[in-house]
Amino acid sequence: VEHSKPCVAMISSPGVGHVTPLLELAKRLVTHHGFSVTFLAIATTEPSPAQDDLLDSPTMPPYLHVRRLPTVDVSAVVPPDALLVTRLCLIVQESVKSLKSALVDLGRPKALIIDIFCTEAHDVSRELGIPSYTFFTTSAAMLAFCLYLPTLDREVDRSIEFAELNQPIEVPGCRSILPEDLLDQAKNRKIEEFSRLLYHLDRLTLSAGIFLNSWEALEPVPFKALRENSFYLNMRVPEIFPIGPVMKENEPETLKQSDRDCLEWLNKQPERSVLLISLGSGGTLTCEQITEIAWGLELSQQRFIWVVRRPVDATRSGTYFKAGSNDDDPRTYLPEGFLDRTRGVGIVMPSWIAQGAVIGHPSTGAFLTHCGWNSAIESIAKGVPMIAWPLYAEQRTNAVLLTEELGVAVKVRASGENRVFGREEIAQTVRLVMEGEEGRVMRAKVGELMDSAAKASEPGGPSEVTLASACKGWKS
Ligand code: UDP
Repeated sequence: VEHSKPCVAMISSPGVGHVTPLLELAKRLVTHHGFSVTFLAIATTEPSPAQDDLLDSPTMPPYLHVRRLPTVDVSAVVPPDALLVTRLCLIVQESVKSLKSALVDLGRPKALIIDIFCTEAHDVSRELGIPSYTFFTTSAAMLAFCLYLPTLDREVDRSIEFAELNQPIEVPGCRSILPEDLLDQAKNRKIEEFSRLLYHLDRLTLSAGIFLNSWEALEPVPFKALRENSFYLNMRVPEIFPIGPVMKENEPETLKQSDRDCLEWLNKQPERSVLLISLGSGGTLTCEQITEIAWGLELSQQRFIWVVRRPVDATRSGTYFKAGSNDDDPRTYLPEGFLDRTRGVGIVMPSWIAQGAVIGHPSTGAFLTHCGWNSAIESIAKGVPMIAWPLYAEQRTNAVLLTEELGVAVKVRASGENRVFGREEIAQTVRLVMEGEEGRVMRAKVGELMDSAAKASEPGGPSEVTLASACKGWKS
């Protein structure tokens, strides 16, 4: 570790959706703010190729070091039936045991930056006298809800679920949330997923400050609520630092051959003519739903790039921990003849794609997304309208923001009670976004947000100024 530069340490729970923005923040700190950053990566016995690609990137700037903490044996600490958040929390808990010695080794960094599932780290940093900050990697609206959740939990009798209140959840100063759009983990307060989440949310206020991958013009209402309630619900809210958009640049040297081929193909397509379909790191669908999407794409007669994964029935966040793993041959689960019939019109990419590079390509016209916050930010920053297909975690809440509040996405219109979206509805939605008037209106709106994203992040713009103000104290 260089002694000439002040050092900052980071730790993030496993998962591309959290590691990506924290690493990007690390890059900004080393390239624009004169820090040396050590990213303490949580390592497990489970392979996660996409995450490893991020951590071992050949384009890591000087003064950004990735150091893996001792490997956590997942089978020893996580029961096989553990759900997403519980699993994350158990892995983090185990890994954080080695945090103290890592920080001491680094010569006590000037600051520690963590993600929401690493709040045990606050105790370690307090002991060592290091200020710890949280990078909350989803929206400001979700932050306001999460700060409110412990209060809501105290106020509503535990024998009743929030969904049974039969009324929207009123988040102070913010848009209320319909029970069906609630964060998954808040839907059942009787299970461990909720208590684990609540534990970390309760500890958000231990942060010396909270970074957000957002900016004022994108979410004026929640930012106002957070600002005006510096004692939001009787809590001292840590200072909020909006530093968005924070997103990964897909440098050419990090692209795989399959990605290069894909971009090559995109180069030959008309402007804004291709629909990208990608459901984040964890998104999987049932066999029935994959079949309907395939037929829907054919019926829509639009060009597409579809990131497909082996169908997993009745699970959610299926590939979160092994994102980017090689998958089965799509021929085994796509409708027979689909690949032949759509040759030249669409590309099927098994498992993983350099999403940022594809969204930013001029031939990309729309993005069917699971509404993970990183994906939403990437799409907005590149001015691409979306089809919202939320699956799990806080994705439904994000989808409401994108569709109803910002008007930059539409949902597929479901007919009847069926949880499966049918091919006709899919085809119709795809066409209206790619070719219809509604698509034109959304594209105009997302174009405005794209401009505001560019303004926020330009040199001297509010996100850069905010970040500089956050780290001013770390240099002394
Ligand atoms: N991503 C990617 N290729 C894929 C799927 C996802 O590069 O095939 C990236 C995407 O660009 C985003 C991140 O992985 O930066 C996923 O984060 P997000 O918050 O959208 O969703 P999550 O995976 O956390 O559900």
